[in-house]
Amino acid sequence: AAKSKGAGKTRFFSEDLRSEKNPLAYLQGLREALSKNELSLFYQPLIAANTEEIHALEVLLRWIHPTLGTIPPDHFIPLAERHGLMESLGHWVMQQALKQYAQWQKEGVAPACIAINVSPIEFQSEYFVGNLLKALEDNQIEPSCLELELTEGVFVEQNSANLEKLNELSSRGVNLAIDDFGTGYSSLAYLKHLPVNQLKIDRAFVKGLPKNQADKAIVESTLALCRGLKMSVVAEGVENKEQADYLRQEGCDFIQGYFYGRPVDTEQTGLRLRKLKTQ
Ligand code: C2E
Ligand code: CA
Ligand code: CA
Ligand code: CA
Repeated sequence: AAKSKGAGKTRFFSEDLRSEKNPLAYLQGLREALSKNELSLFYQPLIAANTEEIHALEVLLRWIHPTLGTIPPDHFIPLAERHGLMESLGHWVMQQALKQYAQWQKEGVAPACIAINVSPIEFQSEYFVGNLLKALEDNQIEPSCLELELTEGVFVEQNSANLEKLNELSSRGVNLAIDDFGTGYSSLAYLKHLPVNQLKIDRAFVKGLPKNQADKAIVESTLALCRGLKMSVVAEGVENKEQADYLRQEGCDFIQGYFYGRPVDTEQTGLRLRKLKTQ
C-alpha cells in the first residue's frame, strides 16, 4: 500500500513533504530516491579567471521528485547525514560523476578536473579512500583530475584517521579543496601542515564586491594568504561582471557562479562542452 500510486495518496504524501510536517515520510522518500532513480547530478563550471576557459566542473546533487520537482541538496543532505544515508548517497555520486567524466574524456570534451563535494560523514567512513581509488581506476581517470571539496571541519579536527586519509589522497595526486572557506570560525593553523591545494571563498564574502569594504578586506587578505601558501583560490557565487573583473584583477585563479554558468544537468553540460570544443 505504501507504494500505491493512487492520485490521492501521492498528493497527501507530497503535501506532507512540502510542509515537512511529516519528516518520516520525507525520510522514507529519500531512502527510496536512489532505487527510484530520482537522484540526478548537475554540473557547474569553474572558470579560469584569465583565459575564461572551463577548468573544472563541480558536481551538484539534485533530488528530482515526481510531484515536488527539484529539491536542492541543502534540504536533504543534512537529513541523509543524520540518518545514515550519506555514505551510500556519496558513494553513488562518486560512481556516477566519475563515469560521466570518463565519458566526456573519451569524447575529448572534458575539462581538466571534476570537483566532487564530500560530506564529513562520508569522509569518516573507513572505506572512503579505498572506494574512491577503485572508482578512479575502474574509470581510468588520473587522480590529478579529481578535486575533492571538503569543509573546514575535516581539516581542523585533529584526528589521526582524517590526517592519514588526507595525506594518502594527496600522495596519490588527488587535489584537496577547502569549501566555504571563512564560514567555519576556525583558526588558520591547519593550513600550515595539511595537504591543501585549493581554497574556495564562500559566496557570503563575494556578494558585496567590489563596493563593500569588509568583503574586500576579507577577500584580498585571503588571496594574499593563498599566494603565500601556494594554494589556488576559487571565488564562489560570482553573479556579475563587476565581481568577476574585480576578482580577476586581484589575482583570483578561478571564478564560479551564475555569471559564467548555473548548474545544469548532464545533457546540457555535454552540449556546452561539445559546443566549446568546436568553437
Ligand atoms: P556548495 O558546495 O557551496 O555549492 C555551491 C552552491 O551555490 C550550489 O548550491 C550552487 O548551485 C550555488 N551557486 C553557484 N553559483 C551561484 C551564484 O552565483 N549565486 C548563488 N546564489 N548561488 C550559486 P546547491 O547546488 O543547492 O548545493 C548546496 C550545497 O549542497 C553545496 O554547497 C554542497 O555543500 C552541498 N552539496 C551539493 N551536492 C553535493 C554532493 O554531491 N555531496 C555532498 N556531500 N554535498 C553536496
Ligand atoms: Ca562545493
Ligand atoms: Ca562552497
Ligand atoms: Ca556553500
